[in-house]
Amino acid sequence: MTLNDRAIAAYLGLAIGDALGSTVEFMTPREIAEQYGTHDTLCGGGWLHLKPGHVTDDTTMSLALGNSILAHHKVDALAAAQAFDGWMRAKPVDIGNTVRRNLLQFRKTGNPEAPYSDHDAGNGAAMRVLPVALATFGQPEEGVRAASRAQAHVTHHCTLSDAACECLVFMVQDALRGADKNHLLHTHAHPLAARHPEFKFRAVRQSSNPSGYVADTLQAVFQSFFDTDDFRDCLIDVVNRGGDADTTGAIAGMLAGALYGLDEIPEKWLKGLDANTSRACAIQAQALIRITDQSV
Ligand code: MN
Ligand code: MN
Repeated sequence: MTLNDRAIAAYLGLAIGDALGSTVEFMTPREIAEQYGTHDTLCGGGWLHLKPGHVTDDTTMSLALGNSILAHHKVDALAAAQAFDGWMRAKPVDIGNTVRRNLLQFRKTGNPEAPYSDHDAGNGAAMRVLPVALATFGQPEEGVRAASRAQAHVTHHCTLSDAACECLVFMVQDALRGADKNHLLHTHAHPLAARHPEFKFRAVRQSSNPSGYVADTLQAVFQSFFDTDDFRDCLIDVVNRGGDADTTGAIAGMLAGALYGLDEIPEKWLKGLDANTSRACAIQAQALIRITDQSV
């Protein structure tokens, strides 16, 4: 499996998880079971009334960030803030409260770094880390961390969000290198929980209604990702927990895509994803993964 394949699979996985989860976002597992049995199709609907295969802010903010990285050949905080601001002006289907508040603040101040707040521990920066993981692949750790913070702090300037974002970036990069799941668990997920107990995900199996709090989100994602053995099972397990299902789906899809690769993504999901989104993700994944080569 080539690096290129894994990069594309991570990006399509993000979009597929977003599209799959959006149908059941804010539902409880019981409500999902009553309405869908096991929810496993890109059928659209949900509280946003999406068309089948369409995606939400998790994917569209990632694409906006990726475009800004490609335009500047690096992760640049001001360029990212301008890209997110442009994205917000285009009236996206959904937008998080913290994202909106801090982008409005950016419009006033021109400062691409939001003020620090322990309360801004939502998953809004973590859901869009993939372009950073791809663009900084192979770069020294400190540079990768700085890039992760530059994009995250536009809307979420918070220790727990930073820890989640950086953990996800390094997990994706190791998966792109061909690391196995056990390595990802012991090198990234467990150390994150050791540094920040909020992320502990095995002691109590919290299985339903993961909230938009980044620790809740990552607990659900990690439980599903580490307890399943293929792309399909991972995504079905995580979105059927309901709650912030488009975002748990997006993050789990990104990790599972990078780990299992393109061939493991079910055909019906690849075909069911909105064609424009699918094309944009595949093109951007390949362009971003090449940035490091060009800049070295
Ligand atoms: Mn969303
Ligand atoms: Mn969401």
